[in-house]
Amino acid sequence: DGGFPTDYEIAKSAEKEHITDVLDSWGIGSEDLELFGDYKAKLSHDAVTRLRDNAENKEGNLILVTGMTPTPMGEGKTVTTVGLGQTLNHVGEDAMIAIREPSLGPVFGVKGGAAGGGYSQVLPMEDINLHFTGDLHALTSAHNLISAMLDAKISQSDEFDLDVNDVSWPRSMDMNDRALRNMVVGLGESGGTPREDRFLLTAASELMAVLCLAEDLGDLKERVARIIVAYEKDGGVITVDDLDATGPVTMLLKDAIKPNLVQTIEGTPAFVHGGPFANIAHGTNSLIADKTAFGMGDYLVTEAGFGSDLGAEKFMNIVCRLGDMTPNAVVLVSTVRALKYHGMGMWPADLDAVTEAGVEELEAGFENLDKHVANLQKFGVPVVVALNRFPDDSDEEVQAVLDHCREDLGVRIAESNVFAEGSEGGVDLAEHVIEAADEADEDDFDHLYPDEASIKEKIETVATEVYGAESVNYVGSAEDDIARMEELGFGDMPVCLSKTFHSLSDDASKKGAPSGWELDVRELYPSAGAGFLVVLTGDVLDMPGLPAEPAAAGMDIDEDGNISGLF
Ligand code: ADP
Ligand code: MG
Repeated sequence: DGGFPTDYEIAKSAEKEHITDVLDSWGIGSEDLELFGDYKAKLSHDAVTRLRDNAENKEGNLILVTGMTPTPMGEGKTVTTVGLGQTLNHVGEDAMIAIREPSLGPVFGVKGGAAGGGYSQVLPMEDINLHFTGDLHALTSAHNLISAMLDAKISQSDEFDLDVNDVSWPRSMDMNDRALRNMVVGLGESGGTPREDRFLLTAASELMAVLCLAEDLGDLKERVARIIVAYEKDGGVITVDDLDATGPVTMLLKDAIKPNLVQTIEGTPAFVHGGPFANIAHGTNSLIADKTAFGMGDYLVTEAGFGSDLGAEKFMNIVCRLGDMTPNAVVLVSTVRALKYHGMGMWPADLDAVTEAGVEELEAGFENLDKHVANLQKFGVPVVVALNRFPDDSDEEVQAVLDHCREDLGVRIAESNVFAEGSEGGVDLAEHVIEAADEADEDDFDHLYPDEASIKEKIETVATEVYGAESVNYVGSAEDDIARMEELGFGDMPVCLSKTFHSLSDDASKKGAPSGWELDVRELYPSAGAGFLVVLTGDVLDMPGLPAEPAAAGMDIDEDGNISGLF
């Protein structure tokens, strides 16, 4: 790539300050921190409480970063989030960043970390991408403690009259391993009661969603207690509390709930805390980190996974509702190559063909960008398009996107070069974001549906308004599930739709902005601890697998501890 250094090379040559020095001017003293070496820290409970109280009397600006429909190449949402945070500080504002913690599954699966890239990264990237401060391990253990206590009840007691085919709590692990997708547990004379079971990735555990939505340890405990693990034959629910597991599970999460702080390459403080899936869960970092950040700075830049139809919709309709937050601006990341990919209706992706395509293919892809802009405008929040520039993009292509946004859509747009240049490359973007946030009227923000809308109205609002579907079909157990949710008293919860991220529609192969299609809803279940109803459309992959040549196979460490191949 013309000799441009790798992310790890840039990260390694960056000068880091001790984390206590980074945070000193942000109202955080060393007594507030639990250190993990020199560059990682958790904030103590007392510090979180104090900073959150500070934030009560402040008008902070919440900036959400999302993207157009993702392509296998990656659009640069994390890069833009980190770069924008750095640039806001560079132009004289006080800005914080909050992103999700990486899961080991994707780290070892397909090449691509989750700590940003180029000159817009969070550090130390190798630690953040690997075990970090152990939160994912704690969640995995807490999750499997529930599983173990449930199976002990099933085989050792007759307390519950449960149907072993109606156990909803799987097991979990933080590793992509397709062999664990379906299995029978409890085999052998001493193995307990045989039943079908499965593993999901820890990021997909309801405990991860619960951790990310909890206000504090007390609220975490209440949410853990409510999690449904199985159903009795008469339809009654069995919760974590019924297993007497609330206390020990919450205890295992006592440190995981404390937000992690690190620094970016330019010394901007960054929360990296929690990492739920953006399909069966809400897909953004912890609410605790968001709320604490406003006690430290005036701006918080945070990233929502996938496109506006998934992460951003869930952030607006679920997270902002449950956390009582109002976004002041949304940044929509777009790229020349993603526009071409959508314009060419390409599936599967062929990166060489995309690189060779020109302005005509690019313009054919505008309909995907346009739909994402329109989706975000529906929430009443100002939108700024960030055109994340890649080395292969021509000036003509870049200009075509700028012209389209300004002239055809009348939406703010800025070219962003934060990957190659750090904050020097983000000034135009930051200025547009500041202007948009200044102009934003918080009263204009609205969720797309009220709490009291029926479950079907909520699903249909997301399907038609956001996905562009014409209508919704209820297939499989969907109708029965809706009736059951209402009976259980969950009708007021927001809905969390699980849909492919490869398309605005439910068909991964359809690019652009598909219309005239019908969304099939096939199953619903409550995430009672998190506080939303999961609505399954297509197949959900909550335990990904590794390819034949996983990224892991290219990684190494020498006897001096030097890592290679980690991006
Ligand atoms: P997302 O958060 O949207 O999935 P990332 O920010 O993780 O995307 O970026 C995806 C990949 O693309 C990363 O490897 C990143 O380093 C790389 N990347 C992002 N922006 C650029 C750019 N402008 N030029 C070159 N590489 C980039
Ligand atoms: Mg990302």
